[in-house]
Amino acid sequence: MSHFGARSLLFLVCAAFLATATAESFALRTVQSGDSVGSIANRFGVSSSTVLQANGLNGTLIRPGDVLRVPLGEAVGGVVEAAPDPPPGFRRHVLGSGETLSGIVDRYDITLRALVGANPDLSSLDRLPVGVELLIPPGEGLVVPLHDPSRLTELIELYGAEPVAVARANALRSPFDLRPGMLLFLPGVEPSAALERLAAVREAENRYVWPVHGRLTSYFGRRNLGMGTAAFHRGIDVAAPTGTPIVAARSGTVTFAGWSTRGYGNLVRIRHAGGAETWYAHASRILVSVGQYVNQGERIALVGSTGLSTGPHLHFELHVGGSAIDPLGELR
Ligand SMILES: [Zn+2]
Repeated sequence: MSHFGARSLLFLVCAAFLATATAESFALRTVQSGDSVGSIANRFGVSSSTVLQANGLNGTLIRPGDVLRVPLGEAVGGVVEAAPDPPPGFRRHVLGSGETLSGIVDRYDITLRALVGANPDLSSLDRLPVGVELLIPPGEGLVVPLHDPSRLTELIELYGAEPVAVARANALRSPFDLRPGMLLFLPGVEPSAALERLAAVREAENRYVWPVHGRLTSYFGRRNLGMGTAAFHRGIDVAAPTGTPIVAARSGTVTFAGWSTRGYGNLVRIRHAGGAETWYAHASRILVSVGQYVNQGERIALVGSTGLSTGPHLHFELHVGGSAIDPLGELR
């Protein structure tokens, strides 16, 4: 087909007709700070229990950045978006417990760029809740909603997409194949804006803050213990008065909270998105428990001198890829 032919086809296809939302449609709502399950349910005119059920939640604890599905079948008001069918050749994947986007990319043998292109409205690459539905694309490109079918040509030009490829990828053969709000796949178009935004989100989420401020009494690395013996210090020591609050250096899930038999005394370990862990040792008191999600800056323990310690201080370790690295360069 010549370029001119493809254009004519698209003009031909540019007639609109209205589609109605199905009973199974839902809205996606990214949780903002200050949101509660109740306030989101209110906004969409559904009950809190409907929202809890649709997201497989037991409690009402949600955090900013979570993406909630709000079923619209029984909605009585509010602004709603229907969940359109994905373009041809796409599959759906519901995020399971413990699954990561890099795992999904491997499993379907696609690139992260392709996955982002198919799901450009993700709020985060690392903090997606279980149950979020992802579109698995047949290749690289960008999925965009077609709000107004009469502007299909404009949209294709805006993204610099190839008209023939778009018609083929979306099985557009007649005007009846176009519906307002349908998802269009633009093959080969790079999801630059989404990639940039998600990279910035990831950078912010992967930043560590000082768990406690005080005097640095020991640095990471080999230290001389005198009498010709040396040991490797796997973290940094920050001296602070007993009882000074220790905060989570980065948000994550508590994987250990209790007495360590290895000299750490009262120890808290927090696992972060991507697999890194932070360790907080010698605490006088622990304020969190295993399995608890803590936000960056949240109090997790109090400074103490428990275990192998000569005075009140925090011994802080950062583990990346299973081994301790120097945390000093990472703290902000
Ligand atoms: Zn230490």
